[in-house]
Amino acid sequence: MPMGGRGIRVLIVGGGIGGLCLAQGLRKAGVDFTVYERDTAAGARQQGYRLRISPEGEAALRACLPPALQELLTVTGHRRGENGLDAYDEQLRPQWTPQFDDPRGDRPDRVDAVDRDILRRILLAGLEDRVRFGRTVVGCEHLPGGRVAARFADGSTAEGDVLVAADGANSQVRGRLLPTSRPTDLGVRTVFSRIAREDAVRAGLPEPLQDRFSYVIGADSHLGLMPMSFRSSPRQAAARLWPGLELPDSGDYYMVVLNVHRDDLGISDQEFFALDGPGLCRFAAHRTAAWHPGLRGLFHHARADLSFGVALRAQVPVTGWDTFPVVPLGDAVHTMPPSGGVGANTAVRDAAALTGALAAVDRGGRDAADAVAEYQKAMAVYATEGVEMSLRIARWSIKKVDAVAGAGEHGN
Ligand SMILES: Cc1cc2nc3c(=O)[nH]c(=O)nc-3n(C[C@H](O)[C@H](O)[C@H](O)COP(=O)(O)OP(=O)(O)OC[C@H]3O[C@@H](n4cnc5c(N)ncnc54)[C@H](O)[C@@H]3O)c2cc1C
Repeated sequence: MPMGGRGIRVLIVGGGIGGLCLAQGLRKAGVDFTVYERDTAAGARQQGYRLRISPEGEAALRACLPPALQELLTVTGHRRGENGLDAYDEQLRPQWTPQFDDPRGDRPDRVDAVDRDILRRILLAGLEDRVRFGRTVVGCEHLPGGRVAARFADGSTAEGDVLVAADGANSQVRGRLLPTSRPTDLGVRTVFSRIAREDAVRAGLPEPLQDRFSYVIGADSHLGLMPMSFRSSPRQAAARLWPGLELPDSGDYYMVVLNVHRDDLGISDQEFFALDGPGLCRFAAHRTAAWHPGLRGLFHHARADLSFGVALRAQVPVTGWDTFPVVPLGDAVHTMPPSGGVGANTAVRDAAALTGALAAVDRGGRDAADAVAEYQKAMAVYATEGVEMSLRIARWSIKKVDAVAGAGEHGN
């Protein structure tokens, strides 16, 4: 469908990492858009955990953000560590120390990891007039003339030329249009939590683990410990670089991740998902009670209010949606386990690629259906690689992971 240079209107469903990065890209490119987000406000849900940023993810964020927000992301990122991680057994006997090459080398402004809450607030900056909070999309319809409408829980609708489904792993849009396309449950149940750096150190976290990504491989529980040490105060950096934007100073912390296969939980799935924050911390403390003294006390200091349990899932192979003018982006089309830290990086890569496609359509240089099909073709390739890499790392680190029909890495 040619849209001959008249300018298009894009509806973005979901103001998470991918949807907001696309919004920043479209703003930079001068394309008209509105973001519809289910949460009632930017801080409605606690999302303050650490996200690893890959070279591809960093390049995509730089492509979409204006220079001052790029700078803000850099100066609030994780203070540089070394590449790779140290793996131990549960008595902290060293196992492996895999090193990863990083094409960014020693560039001083390299962004290795960020706090997700800070990233999301940076992605929201300058979009106040274009993000509608408290708007839950419950369906979408193709309209005559090739347009599309989003339908909201309150019965209202919004119309546009393209609707981007950036509504995450449980995508309502996918559920409506492709009800049989669902991520596979990998059988792994994960407790995510956060511990203030000073509390972990006071509780006896051994020095070699304090500034490194560390992984502890237990008999049937596996623990990841990732430091998040801010390069500079987010509050002060925002005041300098984007006056009016309020970023919270949460202090340095560790993200802690405990993986257990559901066969080894010792409780039913139903009981696990019914655990609240304090219950999850007690569960994790119990699982690690016989570990090295430097580890066993950690979950007694974890932030119960920032603890949550999830089922790890994956969608592979990734295939584009034949639903134009509805186009997918991020976890909605390529859910993957967080092992390897690839999901958000792939979502922002989608955002940069889709920005390029929609900007060309907006200028009148491309047919919209062709441009979107090209985006989806490339996305399916790199996203499938991303999901398969995440699955390989999950199998290496968690050992017991259920099979995914269609995954190319079986047997690894
Ligand atoms: C603990 C944890 C650690 C992780 N670590 C990493 C990491 O280190 N590196 C990495 O690359 N990835 C990581 N990931 C994965 C990463 O968070 C996701 O891949 C990424 O957030 C996907 O972005 P998205 O925009 O597709 O979805 P989301 O960020 O999930 O955003 C979806 C948005 O849509 C909204 N929404 C949902 N339904 C509707 C609706 N019906 N109407 C309107 N709005 C709706 C939601 O409220 C949400 O804001 C991690 C994930 C977890 C849970």
